[in-house]
Amino acid sequence: QEARIKEQEKLAVVGQMAAGMAHEIRNPLASVRGFAQLMSEKIGKVNSTFKEYMEIMIQEIDQADNFINNFLQLARPKAPSMQRCSLNELITSFVHIFESQAFIQGVKVETDLQKDLPLITIDKDQIKQVLLNLCQNALQALERQGRILLVTRYHQAEKEVCLSVIDNGPGIPPENLDKLGTPFFTTKDKGTGLGLSISYTIVDSHRGRIEVDSQPGRGTCFSVYLPVDEQF
Ligand code: ADP
Repeated sequence: QEARIKEQEKLAVVGQMAAGMAHEIRNPLASVRGFAQLMSEKIGKVNSTFKEYMEIMIQEIDQADNFINNFLQLARPKAPSMQRCSLNELITSFVHIFESQAFIQGVKVETDLQKDLPLITIDKDQIKQVLLNLCQNALQALERQGRILLVTRYHQAEKEVCLSVIDNGPGIPPENLDKLGTPFFTTKDKGTGLGLSISYTIVDSHRGRIEVDSQPGRGTCFSVYLPVDEQF
């Protein structure tokens, strides 16, 4: 019993250290990102090669930032801070940023958002993180000429909204489907295997679920189902 309490205390300390480190790293990263963005806009007008370099820098910073977010979520899960919001708006503002990242890799991002989608009660930051994880996976799976499609739908009978992230990449081999969401499962050289596991945990804490439909050679569809509040 006492050993277990010690163990938990140790974990709490690790979590706090992780949070402190993350803070110290993310702030300077955010500042570098801001200046890179500014330079990309200024220099981009006169030199397209430099613009591309700056965009790559921004992309790498975003990747590091996302890794820190995922790691932090694992080391010190935050209780969701729920607020009512429009999933479509969240997606639109996300796509605005993600599009340019995808563009550099020759990948197109398209949306098919259902009008009059009911509002949902979610932790915006956490759901944005799920969206980013799914889109980054799609992007990493794609070659030039690839395409990512984001779709929202309202399933009235089930009282849930569905967000699908669809890519036309190589798909996931059937023998790997069961392993998705297992911490540290990755098939990538530089993968961490954290993205999906964190995403599953977040969606779980929203009383939702994630379903995967993948056809080798044709593409992958990750669907996130989130409940719509009863009273609406
Ligand atoms: P990581 O991206 O670090 O590998 P994830 O948990 O995000 O970790 O993903 C785990 C694995 O799931 C990936 O390594 C990849 O094999 C597979 N995967 C996830 N999304 C896709 C996708 N859209 N297309 C193909 N494979 C995917």
